[in-house]
Amino acid sequence: MSGKTRRVLLAGNPNVGKSTVFNALTGLRQHTGNWPGKTVETAVGRYAFRGVDYELVDLPGAYSLNPRSQEERVALEALERWDYDCVAVVCDATMLRRNLILVYQILALEVPVVVCVNLMDEARRKRVTVDLPELQRLLGARVVGTSAGRKEGLEALRLAIARTAEEQAWSIGQNLPGDSRERAALAERTAGRVTQGIPTGKREQMLDKLVTGKWTGIPILLLLLFFLLWITIAGANIPSDLLWRGVERLYGRLTQAAGGWPAWLRGALLDGILLTMGRVVAVMLPPMAIFFPLFTLLEDLGYLPRMAYNMDHALDRCGGCGKMALTMCMGLGCNAAGVIGCRIIDAPRERLMGILTNSLIPCNGRFGALILLMTAFLIPSGWGSAGAALGLTAFLAFSVLAVMGVCKLLSVTVLRGVPTAFALELPPYRRPRVGQVLIRSVLDRTLRVLWRAVIAAAPAGLILWVLSQVSLGDRSLIASMAWALDPMGRAMGMSGVLLTGFILGWPANEIVLPVAVLAATGTLQMEAGAASLGALRLGWETALCTAVFFLFHWPCATTCMTIRKETGSLSWTLLAAALPTVLGMLLCLLIHGVFLLL
Ligand code: GDP
Repeated sequence: MSGKTRRVLLAGNPNVGKSTVFNALTGLRQHTGNWPGKTVETAVGRYAFRGVDYELVDLPGAYSLNPRSQEERVALEALERWDYDCVAVVCDATMLRRNLILVYQILALEVPVVVCVNLMDEARRKRVTVDLPELQRLLGARVVGTSAGRKEGLEALRLAIARTAEEQAWSIGQNLPGDSRERAALAERTAGRVTQGIPTGKREQMLDKLVTGKWTGIPILLLLLFFLLWITIAGANIPSDLLWRGVERLYGRLTQAAGGWPAWLRGALLDGILLTMGRVVAVMLPPMAIFFPLFTLLEDLGYLPRMAYNMDHALDRCGGCGKMALTMCMGLGCNAAGVIGCRIIDAPRERLMGILTNSLIPCNGRFGALILLMTAFLIPSGWGSAGAALGLTAFLAFSVLAVMGVCKLLSVTVLRGVPTAFALELPPYRRPRVGQVLIRSVLDRTLRVLWRAVIAAAPAGLILWVLSQVSLGDRSLIASMAWALDPMGRAMGMSGVLLTGFILGWPANEIVLPVAVLAATGTLQMEAGAASLGALRLGWETALCTAVFFLFHWPCATTCMTIRKETGSLSWTLLAAALPTVLGMLLCLLIHGVFLLL
């Protein structure tokens, strides 16, 4: 036992399950989804095997070492640093023909290599067989078959890595053809000799024709979105009610128990913190815990890159690029994540465009409020959850159109330039691991919402309670603010109370409505959801303007800070905040104007 840490690089084409292997070996969890370009930075993890520590570096996915993209450059630089003990190259068992090109390129570097033939389960399902011993013989490097998704073959992989790293055995690099085209001939021959029964993929091709077809692609996309939202809205009602009743009961119990406490302490803790947190959790948690797991299933299936493909043409014409469809999806979860996700866009101009427009897509925190406004005010109750889902689909489609419009605007003003052409690869469809995905992402969402409730809603609840208790003349501070903002709010079809909600809700969109209710009533109400909104006296017009402003206003504090960090510039950050705000204000003024005319 040397006691020193052995360094292992993990390389491979995009979409071969590299992140899954990395996660399975290290027990860490990075985002794995079935689309290319997720690993934008090299991730590092550790594991121990038979008393030796290993440091595993997950390189970005690369098709070759002739750097054509940022990912390939990063991978090549890491490989040429020679500061590691072993390279594990992950391959897709059903696509060896293509994957072996990279394997041969790495072998040619004359470094210790282990070849991990992953997705063996997928190969079995498709009736593809791979002769692993023969492949090992032909490559002159250790070969291990794994199904990382099911945690199969990992022990053998760890062992192969350990042996190779220990022996520092050079591979057969010196005997390989130097010419890249000859090597690609070689890769093809080797794959042909060890694989049998490569599937024709007829069914996939037919499905792709439909899913990415010129006339069918977008309708299918809208239909899928509608169904997702329908299931979400229909399913969220009951758990929302139950959660709130739980909060009420807890509030009742604690109020009794705290009978002897000073009124200010009881007010701050229970009325301020507990109720604000409770409202955020009851309104946000159920839809998040339903929508995102379903969305993740689509992602796991391989639908998202197809969606990006469908939107590529339209985005391209507006001066953006197809990968923005992927970052918009991330924005749907959290705009800060979407902004960071823009690193998958290579061209700096388009990347900036993706960052500047991401907040136009409604995130987690705005979703619950939009659903609430939709079901309680905007859609006639007779239409049920399908009606609300239809309304929400229309809103989402509108926000995508807004992204395109703003891209167009940017591309003829501050971000002039020619869109860079890029190839968007369509990965194979994969059977989603339903159980695992559902459990993981329900847990994920639940923890996320709870965490937001603790770090954003709890302190905000406390501050709000103080603002509602400290008076200025005969009005509380928060009521004074609402009063001062009222003329502007009314011009935008809303009210001062609602604008106060948006402004004080800057730390987290989840608290916008609770703040508005507080500003309207001076106390934190005991009801959650639609009932508490009674105090806001929303009419149809007000609800519409509020929903539109929810869709388009300044990004939350976290997102603003993330934009600042990613762009390194205050001006771009201000522009990113100004774009949705101006758009939202204009739309609200317009709606209000139309209502006045009518
Ligand atoms: P990367 O792009 O190479 O990092 O690939 P990922 O690790 O993100 O995996 C791409 C997709 O393949 C994901 O949907 C994974 O769930 C799936 N996947 C990864 N390994 C396996 C496996 O061994 N079997 C199956 N069936 N799917 C897998």
